[in-house]
Amino acid sequence: MIQEVKMYTVICDNCKKSADDDTDYSCWNDKNAAKEIAMEASWITEDDNDYCPDCYSYDDYNNLIIGKPKTFCRIEYSQKEGLFNIEEHPIGYQKIPYPDWKILSDNLTIEQCTQFSEEIGFNNSLDKVQTELRKFIAKNL
Ligand SMILES: [Zn+2]
Repeated sequence: MIQEVKMYTVICDNCKKSADDDTDYSCWNDKNAAKEIAMEASWITEDDNDYCPDCYSYDDYNNLIIGKPKTFCRIEYSQKEGLFNIEEHPIGYQKIPYPDWKILSDNLTIEQCTQFSEEIGFNNSLDKVQTELRKFIAKNL
């Protein structure tokens, strides 16, 4: 005889991922067990919603941020050195670079920055980097 049973899992309210995705189980037979397993895997509950570890972070002021990327990538250029640099920072990071470094872009992901640097290389004139960056952003964003 086959009988239907009621089982539970926790679903991320942001990305809809299930808490059992990274485990050997597909669900649990009681709500508390499902919740407990999720919490052990760094899930959080906020205003009755559940979020997986990929979907929340804290900014520099310890404010909870839901559903946004945890980092951004900054492209900086040093005219003195004649090259640019990419740096990944946590969201909320505001420190400005050394005076001879100029911020060219503050809104790319680390993947996009890496792709950009691989496409053009680090040693370039400021004009070339700015031109290429404009093209890159037009093409990719
Ligand atoms: Zn999620």
